[in-house]
Amino acid sequence: MTDYKNLLKKIHEKYLPSTKGSLASYIPELAKIDPNLFAISITTVDGKTYSHGDINSFFTLQSTSKPFTYGLALMDHGPEFVHQRVGVEPSGEAFNSIIELEKNSHRPFNPMINSGAIAVASMIQDKLLDNNEIYIRSDRMLDLFSSLCGKKLEINEQVFLSEKKTAHRNRAIAHLLRHFDVIGNDIEESLDLYFKQCSVEINIIDLSQMAATLANQGVQPISKIKIYDEQYITDMIGLIFTCGMYDTAGAWAYQVGIPAKSGVSGAIFGVIPGVMGIAVYSPLIDDHGHSVRGVNAIKDISQELKLNIFRQQKR
Ligand code: GLN
Repeated sequence: MTDYKNLLKKIHEKYLPSTKGSLASYIPELAKIDPNLFAISITTVDGKTYSHGDINSFFTLQSTSKPFTYGLALMDHGPEFVHQRVGVEPSGEAFNSIIELEKNSHRPFNPMINSGAIAVASMIQDKLLDNNEIYIRSDRMLDLFSSLCGKKLEINEQVFLSEKKTAHRNRAIAHLLRHFDVIGNDIEESLDLYFKQCSVEINIIDLSQMAATLANQGVQPISKIKIYDEQYITDMIGLIFTCGMYDTAGAWAYQVGIPAKSGVSGAIFGVIPGVMGIAVYSPLIDDHGHSVRGVNAIKDISQELKLNIFRQQKR
């Protein structure tokens, strides 16, 4: 039996002294966070969680939310509709690239970069329920994310408003998408949903359960509730792998071999299909927007547990 708890403790001790990276100051609220926070968690597909570090610290999902909203769009509309408006190719550019849209179609390259995630957010609409009540899009997103963690999640209003007020670049991207008819007229509503999904607050155990739900074919491994249709899980994991680490996706595939998604809050998760979800949180990020301690911790976990998905699989 692998001693996961001890492994996480060892890796935590190894990287805690590192102070490389900086806080994501372009969202003012994120610049106020304690840079020393560091937490790691693994949840296996049979529902066991092992964690170490600041497990009670809350942080916002930021871009780690993108695959989960993409999954919701797939369930709402199917892949054909979704991929008429957003592609499936890595862009080789930074997450917030404003110039790169696909030639001719003018689609964003993929759902993991900001332009693609804003296009995806525009596809999530309010729903009219049988009792004539309106189920608003942000509640639909929040309820879905809550079911992934098996508990009621909240939006961090300060972070949401902080990003909304300062999001000139994302607003420019959204208007460009409107210009090319990738999104409709509800530009501010689409941006609001995007900022809200980025501002959902979780802790490290929640994030490892979200990742483990992907590893477990869309079934939350503790509640056993089916959250995503199995057919869409491979789409989600495929794009997490090729596009989740943006302009370092190639090096990541080569060095680590684990589908992974990062966010500028310092959250990062990895998915080992059929095995486990891994989550790390530490707010100091590198120039690509990845947690420095997070990247190192996942690399070590991959090596120590031989998780590179390109290794020979034993059956
Ligand atoms: N909310 C952030 C933004 O749009 C998310 C970016 C990220 O986590 N890489 O800039």
